[in-house]
Amino acid sequence: MKLLVIGSGGREHAIAWRLAQAPRIQKVFVAPGNGGTARENGLENLAITDIGKLAEFALAEGIYLTVVGPEAPLAEGIVDLFRSKGLRIFGPTKACARLESSKQFAKEFMTRHRIPTAEFAAFEDPRAAHAYVDERGAPIVVKADGLASGKGVIVATSKDEAHRAIDRILVERTMGAAGSRVVIEEFLEGEEASFIVLADGEHVLPLATSQDHKRLKDGDQGPNTGGMGAYSPAPVVTPELHARVVREIIHPVLKGMAEEGHPYSGFLYAGLMIDRGNPRVLEFNCRLGDPETQPILLRLKSDLFELIEGAVDGKLDLLEADWDRRPALGVVLASGGYPEAPKQGDTITGLPAADEDLRVFHSGTALKDGVTVTSGGRVLCVTALGVTIKMAQRRAYEAVSGIRFDGMQYRRDIGFRAVSSKK
Ligand code: AMP
Repeated sequence: MKLLVIGSGGREHAIAWRLAQAPRIQKVFVAPGNGGTARENGLENLAITDIGKLAEFALAEGIYLTVVGPEAPLAEGIVDLFRSKGLRIFGPTKACARLESSKQFAKEFMTRHRIPTAEFAAFEDPRAAHAYVDERGAPIVVKADGLASGKGVIVATSKDEAHRAIDRILVERTMGAAGSRVVIEEFLEGEEASFIVLADGEHVLPLATSQDHKRLKDGDQGPNTGGMGAYSPAPVVTPELHARVVREIIHPVLKGMAEEGHPYSGFLYAGLMIDRGNPRVLEFNCRLGDPETQPILLRLKSDLFELIEGAVDGKLDLLEADWDRRPALGVVLASGGYPEAPKQGDTITGLPAADEDLRVFHSGTALKDGVTVTSGGRVLCVTALGVTIKMAQRRAYEAVSGIRFDGMQYRRDIGFRAVSSKK
């Protein structure tokens, strides 16, 4: 059987690598893929991004199942299109993907279904938005309504900063159509965790928990990024909290979407803020997180293909996922200038050989004349398993220390919360 994975990041490298290990799979195409998927056994890059052309390819090539990595094609309706042509595909429809593609939809949906989240209001008119900030005070969070590649959220520590964010999004339109509306919400304190499930419209299968580090610099300082590292499991998600998240957040989402006529099938990611044991939703993503996927999938012992096939067939209630008990941790190596203006085209040296407990997943890389070069902001995610989180951390950083490219930046403290909670 042949599969198709859509996307080009570390998340898609990890998904495709795991899928290719399934006994029934001959080949996994990755569209468009990256310098890592180009070299991986069983994978083949495909230089297509247009969703109509991808559907034509899937039909012509007899692709058994397509798995969608990033949010943009989901919001564009790739799942609806593939299904209309009788193609099997795993991911939410365009209507379901609104949980991510419109923050206003997600917030109103949570209100309708009593799912715990921060208080909010949505605005198109900058004057009304400014008045709301004046009334509520700071800290306060300003979010562009649409998809903004992780750059649409401003956690404002002063009213001035919030006013500036409103002007940038609604008046200067720095985020284009994604910023035709803003959601302004209450600032939540606590510790963040990612809770990701496979959903089949009715049932869910939770994946191992994880936590990522969004800020560029050590100690969670500096600007927000797509994610500078992640680890799994997240000790903050205790078994009790796990049960509550499923009961109070995940099941109500599945039930609510089905009631509204849009059964949710695909990966569902809830970004949570946990304050004194109480979870609240910061955001939904309608796909796996990057870089959380890399440590999560390094821990997965079950056949990923069987799990996804089970989800497409609505049989998740019959399946279980088996995890390596050991924690995994991934350190992202980013290019110089990331996140503002990532440098590209630098040669990468010192990539370690992969083994059972260590894998380097590629994101922004390309093969140029047989040489791996940087081609994006987040370049690599060096991911390791260890008997303890500390040992996973040590193994990952040992591998990092051999890798070089011009301008390389990374955090030295990935996993610090989990390491200190184990002391
Ligand atoms: P989002 O894309 O909505 O998850 O936001 C990106 C990041 O902004 C989150 O991971 C949090 O660190 C932060 N954030 C978002 N919403 C809030 C909030 N209401 N209170 C505090 N921090 C937030």
